[in-house]
Amino acid sequence: MSAIGNEAGGVAERADVAIVGGGVIGCSVAYYLAKAGARVVVLDAAGVGSGASSANSGGINLATKKPGAAMRLGLASQRLYGGLAAELGIDLEHHVTGKLIVAETETEFAFLESLCAEQRATGAPVEIVTAERCRELNGLLEGRVLGGLYCPRDAQANPFRVTQGYARAARARGALVMTGTEVRAIETAGTRVSRVRTTRGDIEARWVVNAAGARAADIGRMVGAVHDVKPWRGQVVVLEAATDYPAISVSGASQMVSKHAAANAPREPLSLAFSYQPRPDSGTVLLGSTYEFAGHDTRTTHAATVGICRVNARVMPRLGRACAVRSWAGLRPYSSSGPILGRAGGPEGYVVATGHGGDGMALAPVTGTYLAALIGRDGRPYELSAFLDDQQAAA
Ligand SMILES: Cc1cc2nc3c(=O)[nH]c(=O)nc-3n(C[C@H](O)[C@H](O)[C@H](O)COP(=O)(O)OP(=O)(O)OC[C@H]3O[C@@H](n4cnc5c(N)ncnc54)[C@H](O)[C@@H]3O)c2cc1C
Repeated sequence: MSAIGNEAGGVAERADVAIVGGGVIGCSVAYYLAKAGARVVVLDAAGVGSGASSANSGGINLATKKPGAAMRLGLASQRLYGGLAAELGIDLEHHVTGKLIVAETETEFAFLESLCAEQRATGAPVEIVTAERCRELNGLLEGRVLGGLYCPRDAQANPFRVTQGYARAARARGALVMTGTEVRAIETAGTRVSRVRTTRGDIEARWVVNAAGARAADIGRMVGAVHDVKPWRGQVVVLEAATDYPAISVSGASQMVSKHAAANAPREPLSLAFSYQPRPDSGTVLLGSTYEFAGHDTRTTHAATVGICRVNARVMPRLGRACAVRSWAGLRPYSSSGPILGRAGGPEGYVVATGHGGDGMALAPVTGTYLAALIGRDGRPYELSAFLDDQQAAA
């Protein structure tokens, strides 16, 4: 198609698929679709990775996943991450460092034991470890710890590199990425999507993918679809680089309680949870995070910055002597039912890839492959569970 080029600054008039949102989810969907031969345009109101995809900790964890669909997605995605750097031709700073979730109270330990049993039943290689083993795995753990849930296969990657890597590889296969391009309306012809109206002109498209992250509900309203997605703020504090931070990522079981809790469950406003995520390539450590419903406000707050340092130093007192060098906040796309993938109301040709909450970085590869497979069937249904069965059989 002549109207679609692969210059970042180009303008498309038509495409097979228009993707709203250039975060890690939109870029992953774009890559797998372009790889399958579709003519794709990615539309982002700001820039590639300008939303939550540049504000996260880069964890690719099974230990944190709810048993069931989220865990099945996590297992499939972790397999894809294994070969992703080679496939995209970029160093993703992907490291298998393991993940440990520690319990500070008897109640938390009981929660972890039950979670571990359910996760193992879904096929996750997780185990319960003693307090002594927790301290062996991460020598900074000097506070009260009763034991933990450990997944040796858990990993991390640089979120900037994953998002940009997908965008670059999609462009190399003919996709057009239009930044500074806000989607204002989606039009239909008969029962099907036909055109996307943007601040840089109209684009005819047979398919529209809503990958607008914390703004996905706004895009849904454009086609009369209701999506249960709202912004869920997370604040992070970064510690100065050092050469001797233990490599394994650790968080408190209270983080899991926040992450797995329903939106209306009673809890303190910040839902502060202890989380230690070392970045082996830069030598820094990310501390976090908060789980706040604060609208679209991406500012950091004094209360959260102080609180994050306090809860982390309680469990890892030596971190209390390190300098904090910066902080930031991002908006997770929260959905009470977990990721929303595929048809979710609205006209034919309208599909959704959002609601990943605190798991979007981990689940980006499987999300992209599923959406590409679904669109590739041109309307013939492909249930997510059937797709995951097929992925598992092919592994
Ligand atoms: C502090 C923090 C820590 C996290 N840690 C992890 C982690 O360790 N592991 C993990 O897996 N996940 C983590 N996450 C979650 C992860 O960051 C998100 O799930 C993921 O980035 C969501 O990606 P997305 O592409 O759906 O959304 P986004 O990255 O937010 O992208 C959406 C894009 O849509 C664009 N957009 C919106 N409206 C329009 C419009 N009208 N027109 C055009 N463009 C539009 C925006 O500009 C934006 O670029 C964390 C998140 C936070 C905040």
